[in-house]
Amino acid sequence: MISTGLIPTRRAVIDINRACNAKCRMCYYTYEQSDWSKPLEEVQKELRASLERGNTSVDFTGGEPTIYPQMAEVIRYAESIGLHTCIITNGLAFEKVKKLAEAGCTEWLLSIHGFEEQQDRVLNVPGAWDKMDRTARFLNESGCFVRVNCTLIRHNFKDLPKLAAYYDREVGPRIVNFINFNPHYEWGRHEQPEIVKRLNEVQVCASEVAPWLKQALDYLNERKYWVNVRYFPLCLLKGYEHHVCNNPQVMFDPYEWDYGVCPKTAEVYLEHGREFQRRINTREGVCASCGMIDVCGGLNRNYSQLHGFSELDPYSETSGYPYQFKTDLAADVIIPAFRPSENLRNLVCEITEKTVPPYNLVMVTRQQSAAKNRNEGLRASQNPYVIMCDDDISGLSPGWNRDLIYRLRESRELFGISARLMNPDGTVGRNSAGHFDLASPLAKVDMIPTACCVFRKTDLRFDERYIRAGWEDTDFFMQALRKYGGRFAIANTIRVLHLNEEKNGGGVENEHNRRLFLSKWDFVEADGLDGQSQCDGPPPSSSGTVLNCRLSLSALYEAVMADLTDMEAFKSFIQRSYGSRCFHLLESCLKELVKTRSSSKEICYLLASCLFEQAKYDEARPVAVDLASRYPGYAPARSLLERIETMGQQGAPRVPSGTSWDPGGGANETNFGEFDRGRTAWR
Ligand code: SF4
Repeated sequence: MISTGLIPTRRAVIDINRACNAKCRMCYYTYEQSDWSKPLEEVQKELRASLERGNTSVDFTGGEPTIYPQMAEVIRYAESIGLHTCIITNGLAFEKVKKLAEAGCTEWLLSIHGFEEQQDRVLNVPGAWDKMDRTARFLNESGCFVRVNCTLIRHNFKDLPKLAAYYDREVGPRIVNFINFNPHYEWGRHEQPEIVKRLNEVQVCASEVAPWLKQALDYLNERKYWVNVRYFPLCLLKGYEHHVCNNPQVMFDPYEWDYGVCPKTAEVYLEHGREFQRRINTREGVCASCGMIDVCGGLNRNYSQLHGFSELDPYSETSGYPYQFKTDLAADVIIPAFRPSENLRNLVCEITEKTVPPYNLVMVTRQQSAAKNRNEGLRASQNPYVIMCDDDISGLSPGWNRDLIYRLRESRELFGISARLMNPDGTVGRNSAGHFDLASPLAKVDMIPTACCVFRKTDLRFDERYIRAGWEDTDFFMQALRKYGGRFAIANTIRVLHLNEEKNGGGVENEHNRRLFLSKWDFVEADGLDGQSQCDGPPPSSSGTVLNCRLSLSALYEAVMADLTDMEAFKSFIQRSYGSRCFHLLESCLKELVKTRSSSKEICYLLASCLFEQAKYDEARPVAVDLASRYPGYAPARSLLERIETMGQQGAPRVPSGTSWDPGGGANETNFGEFDRGRTAWR
C-alpha cells in the first residue's frame, strides 16, 4: 500500500431503494420498472458486513434514500456501530432531510444537475431547484459536510461555469464531483432506435463538454475546491488530468465505494478497478495506441460505438500507474534538525516506511536557528503542500501524510492542520492553541505548532531574527493569519507522539524570541491575570499560558474579522474576551459589525454590554436606549439599560467581576441560538 501510494477506500455503499420522488432524464434506472425498498434487517446486515470489511464510512444511494421509511433508524444504527453516514439526495424532501440530520447524518452528497429552471427540467419536477436550494442552505447553515454531484449532460454542460459559481456562493461544498454520463445498462442498447433517440436527448459528446468543464474547473481551482471529474476521457482534459477519477483510480478515492471488495489491499482493489475497465470500456480505435490507456481506463464501449474515436487525442508518453497525474497530492516533508541524532534517524526510517507517494523528503540538518533550517526546507520545496515534521516526532500511522492532505483539501478555509500531538505517557501533548479536547475529528483552533503539520505552500517565510528555537513557528502562523486570513485546525484522527525535546537551546523559554514575538505582534504581558484559570487544559508554563490567552484573543479577532459567518470563532471570541476581561478587541470588532448590521439586536446588545463591562457608561447608554426603543419586548436590553443607569449614577468605575467567565455577566444574556439561526441574515 505504502510503496504504490494507492490506498483502498474505506467507504461502503448501501443501495437502499429504487423508490424516488424525481424522474431524472438521465437516470440509469429509467428502464427499471419496480420501486423496491430493501428490508431494514437486510440493510443492517449489509452495514455490519461493511464494517467487518474494514470500512469507516457508508454512503446510502437509491432511488432516493431520504424517502426510505426507516431511514432515521438506519442512520442511528450505522452510527451506533461506528460507521460514519452520508446520504446521497436530490434535496427535494426538505423535512425528511432535516429529520435525518437530527438523527445523526452529518454528511450529504447533494445532486445539483441543472442551473435554476434546468434543474426542474432534468429532474422532471416543477420547483425542484427551489426545493434543492432550500435544502442546500439548510445543510450549509447546519454545518453539515456537503459534497455535490453534477452529472454532465446536454441540459447543463453550457451552465457548468454558472453552476460552479452557485456551488461556491450558496452551497460551500467540501468536494465537487462532475460525473460524465456514459450509456450504461439499457442506455447502451444502441440497436434500439427509441433508446438511442432518448440517449441523444441527454448525452452530449465529451469534446463539447470539455471547454465548459475546464471553465468550471478554473473557477473552482482558483477557490481551492477539491474537484473530481469521473469517467471522462483523460485526453480531453489535458492539463486538468489530476482531477480525473476513472476506473483505474476509483477504488482508491476516499469518497468512492469499496463495492464489497475484500481484503483491503492495493493489489486487490486495483484488480477490481481494472475489471471495471475491461467490462465497461474499450481498448480499440485510437485508445489502442494510447500510452495512458491504463491511467485513463479507455473509452466507454457503448459511447465509442455511437460516436467513434475522432474527438480523442491519445498520449504518446506511456504510464500504467493510476496516480500518474495526481501531482495535486504531492507534499514536501521537511525535517528541520539542529544536528543528526538517534531520533532523527528513527524518524527518517518511519517516514520511509509509512509515507505514501508522491512526496519529497527535505531534511535540513545545520547548526543554525530553527527559522533558518525551516526556510532552507521551504526554499527546496516544490509541491502544493508542505509538511513540517520535527525530529522529536514518532508514531506515524501508515498514510499519515495523505490523511493530513485530504483533511486540508476538504477545508478550503484552513491554511494549515496539525496532527494531534500526544505525550509518551498517552496524555494529550501541549500545543500553541492550548487545545486539549479529543472529541471532534477536526478541531478548529487559532494557532497550531509546527511539530507535525501540513500547510499550503505560499511565499511566506520564517522570520530569521528568531534565534535558536522557539516562537518562530507561532510567528509564522501569525503571518499566515494576517496575510491570508488563514485558519487552523488540529486533526484528532491523526495522532503522533511528540517527545517534546527542547532543541537548539531554545523552546518556549527562549527569552529573546519571546520578547521579539511580543513586540512584533504588539502583544502586552498580562498583568495580574491568572492565565491558568483561563485556558483549557494543562498549561505548558504559566507565562506561556498567559501569552497563549492573549494570542488566542488576537488570533480570534483576526479570524472573526476575516470570516464574519464563522459562529464558532465568534462565540469563542466573546467568551475569551469576557474570560480574560480584555475587551478592546471585542469592542472594535462589534463596532465594525454594527456599521453594517445595525438591525441585529444581538450585535447592538453585545456592543452595549461590552462597553458597560469597561465602565464606558456614556458610550453604552445611547446604544442601549436605541435598542430598548426599537425592541421594547427585548428583556436583556431593558435589564442592561437599568444596570447602566444605576452604575452611571453611582459614577464609580466598575470593578471587574473576576478573571473567569462570569455566568451572570452581560453577554451571557444573549441567546447564541439566535445568532446561529440568523446566520445568513447578518452575513
Ligand atoms: S485511452 Fe482513449 S480516451 Fe483515454 S486518454 Fe487515451 S485516447 Fe483518450
